Amino acid sequence: MRYETVIGLEVHLQLATKTKAFCGCSTKFGQRPNSQVCPVCLGFPGSLPSLNEEAFRFAIKVALALNCRIQAIVKFDRKNYYYPDLPKNFQISQYDMPLSYNGFVDIAVDGANKRIRVKRVHMEEDAGKLMHPEGEDYSLVDYNRGGMPLLEIVTEPDMSSPREAYDYLTKLKAILEYLKVSDCDMEKGSLRCDANVSIRPEGETKLGTKVELKNMNSFKGVRNALEYEVKRQDSVLEDGGKLVQETRLWDADKGITTSMRTKEEAEDYRYFPEPDLVPFVVEKEEIERIRKTLPELPEAKAARFKAAFGLSDYDAGVLTSQVDLADYFEECVKLYPNAKTVANWLMGDVMATVNEKNIDMSELALAPAAFTGLLKMIDSKAISGKMAKEVLAEAIETRIAPEEIVQKKGLSQISDAGAIESVVQGVLKKEAKTVSDYKSGKKAAFAFLVGQVMKETKGKANPAVVNEILKKSLGE
Ligand code: ADP
Ligand code: ZN
Ligand code: MG
Repeated sequence: MRYETVIGLEVHLQLATKTKAFCGCSTKFGQRPNSQVCPVCLGFPGSLPSLNEEAFRFAIKVALALNCRIQAIVKFDRKNYYYPDLPKNFQISQYDMPLSYNGFVDIAVDGANKRIRVKRVHMEEDAGKLMHPEGEDYSLVDYNRGGMPLLEIVTEPDMSSPREAYDYLTKLKAILEYLKVSDCDMEKGSLRCDANVSIRPEGETKLGTKVELKNMNSFKGVRNALEYEVKRQDSVLEDGGKLVQETRLWDADKGITTSMRTKEEAEDYRYFPEPDLVPFVVEKEEIERIRKTLPELPEAKAARFKAAFGLSDYDAGVLTSQVDLADYFEECVKLYPNAKTVANWLMGDVMATVNEKNIDMSELALAPAAFTGLLKMIDSKAISGKMAKEVLAEAIETRIAPEEIVQKKGLSQISDAGAIESVVQGVLKKEAKTVSDYKSGKKAAFAFLVGQVMKETKGKANPAVVNEILKKSLGE
């Protein structure tokens, strides 16, 4: 039997507001535990939440960027459950009336466009953080994270492979970064993803039994967990077994998923309307006002890059895949008009270094002016392309400007015809035997003579100029 894969993703995004979702506590990361708490986010009796307007605006921005419809009325609900990281014993969330719904994100699959439907984007608050000190018989809780504003972004089960899930997440993250509503840092937990996956016989229209995967801390982790899970489900069915609806945890070290709880053990959240937050109407004008603050998004930017700079689909796609990279590229093109050269160098050596060092473009210690200065030195033949690669690596490593490196090392290429001419004459004198070989028809001797000139100049002579002068001197 051949099976097809069905995947739906749930992303939690921490919004980068200054204060929490329903109180004035700071959201600053990495502070002393329980130093950013108040009666509201600790759920003291009698305290009242009030909605953070900035969080609301960020949420609308995301909803609009994901092509969602906005609910006419904003209503919050209580999701009830007991857990030590939740001091109120309920989480303020949205149930039957999510802030927004029916959106989409387009990804490229085999060169064609594939639309991944976004089912809903709703607002909720984060829980605190539990810590279990190793070897101790107690746990600790930090409520600084409790009450931080979150968005939950849920897709329809529209992805058909772990690869598509990975591409959707990459695209979603790019859009969210453009919006500057979150730092989208998976390591800090600002962006988290749960993946739902099932398989079904090819051609079957009914959905199979879904398994929810948790505990992945990178997009690669999501892809790996899904790949493992698809194989596991496949072999269960092949062995005549039955799949159960359950939540499984990804173990990145072992590369396996293990069961956490089955549907029978799932909690009943007894949602009900949050009585302390009165539903309110979202004015159309307010939405339009927020819409006007949306930045140019990746697809629009890619289209503009293609039209304005003559870039290929591929290049425009890569350069707009991260907002920092796109901004950097545009800065460079302002300083150095050959966009294709900028693109090639950025996507080649610069990106390779950034990836190798595992840093963000924003952390790259190479200002656009310094980088384009390097490109200008290649154009003026002050250095060769090969030298430029070395200088670039060193500039990124040492934070010293490329011009300065070239100067200090005396790297600059000799293009001055006079200087090369005298080296050529010296070589011709010393290699009289080779010269006569060449003149009697041994053409390979020419390359040897070029090599000697390069050696004399320690590789700094401009090869094109050397060729030209040598030919002239040999009477060609
Ligand atoms: P629940 O009520 O259990 O949270 P939802 O209908 O809200 O389920 O779906 C949660 C996520 O699971 C969504 O992203 C959805 O697309 C996905 N999903 C639902 N059913 C399946 C399935 N059979 N296979 C894969 N993904 C699924
Ligand atoms: Zn608070
Ligand atoms: Mg759900």
